Amino acid sequence: MRQITANVFGFSGLKMGRVYAIVDPDGITLIDAGLPPAPQKIARQLAVHGYQITDVKRILITHAHADHVGGLPELRRMSGARVFASALEMPMVEGREMPVYPPRASIPLSARWMARDAELLPGAPVDVRLDDGDTIPDVLGGLQALLTPGHTPGHLVFWHPQRRLLFCGDVVLNLWGRQLPFAAFTPDMAANIASVQRIAALEPDVICFGHGNPLVKNAAASLRRFAAAVGHQKKLEA
Ligand SMILES: [Zn+2]
Repeated sequence: MRQITANVFGFSGLKMGRVYAIVDPDGITLIDAGLPPAPQKIARQLAVHGYQITDVKRILITHAHADHVGGLPELRRMSGARVFASALEMPMVEGREMPVYPPRASIPLSARWMARDAELLPGAPVDVRLDDGDTIPDVLGGLQALLTPGHTPGHLVFWHPQRRLLFCGDVVLNLWGRQLPFAAFTPDMAANIASVQRIAALEPDVICFGHGNPLVKNAAASLRRFAAAVGHQKKLEA
C-alpha cells in the first residue's frame, strides 16, 4: 500500500484491477475490490499501516467486471463495509444478471482472441445505490459519483472537485500510456469515448486508474490530449 496523495493510497501486488483506499476520520473507503484473492492482500497491507480490515466502512464499485468485484463478497464479509454501486450496475454486482459483453462478431479481429462468454459474478449485495451526480458526504467531505457508461452500462467514476482527484475506473487505462479499455470487454465504445470527453472536461490534477499507475503530474493536460485524439478518431470512423 503506497500513498498517492493526501489521504489516498493504492494497494500493490493485486495482479489485475487496482484498488484504492481513502482514509477519513471515521474509517476507510475502498474503490473497487479486485480479483478474488485481493481481500487477504488488502487486509495484510492495511495491517502494515496500523489499520484493520474492519476499519473499511465503504466499498465503492466502479463497474461489475471480475477484476473489480471478484473480491467483493469476501471483502464485504471480512469488513462489514457498505457496498455502493450505480443502480444500473447493481444486478451484475449482485450476481443476478450477466455482465454485458460485446457480440463476438462486433469485436475487431485483432482483439477477438480476448473475447469471453459472460458469466454471473459471485456477487454481493449492494447497500447504497448511486445515481449520476450523487455525493457521498463521508468521503473526503464529499466524493461525487458520475455515470460514465460505455465500458459497462452503469460504470461510475468518483470525483472530488475541491481536490481535483479522479478515480476513473476503466474509462481510460494507463498501461502503455493512456488507452481506451479493451474492445472485447467494452460493449459501447462510442459511449465510452463520450465518457472520456466528460472526465477530461473535469480537468483532474490526480487520476487513479482501474489499470496502470496513477497520474499525479500534468494529469489534466495528458487526459485532454487523449480525449482530443480519440474524439478525432471517432469522427473519422463515423
Ligand atoms: Zn478492469
